[in-house]
Amino acid sequence: MTEETSQKAKPGRTFDSAYGFSFSIAVGLILFIAGLVISLTLGQGTNIGLIFGIPLLVAGLIIPIFMMRDLFKTNEIKEPCPNCGTIIRTSDATLQLKCTNCQKVINVREGQFVLDN
Ligand SMILES: [Zn+2]
Repeated sequence: MTEETSQKAKPGRTFDSAYGFSFSIAVGLILFIAGLVISLTLGQGTNIGLIFGIPLLVAGLIIPIFMMRDLFKTNEIKEPCPNCGTIIRTSDATLQLKCTNCQKVINVREGQFVLDN
């Protein structure tokens, strides 16, 4: 077996969501295959393979879900109101909100507050 070492982290590369997505799939797949191999090879006549293999199989299924749930979590925006300067906290899933201080309607575009004209 040869090991590919070309997948080393490049300097300056951020852990973006596309990379994190494939990473979580890979982790799940490795755990799943490892669990499958262990339960099939060590499990001959004994329960040892199942004791080690099944938790790995389950982890291979659950871990990617947890990692992905984290990836799809909305980012918090903390920006000043473009009209009055009050710091408003919201999530980037919000499209429109009202300033708590000046009651102006503010549109949220790509993490920035834009006044509704
Ligand atoms: Zn305001």
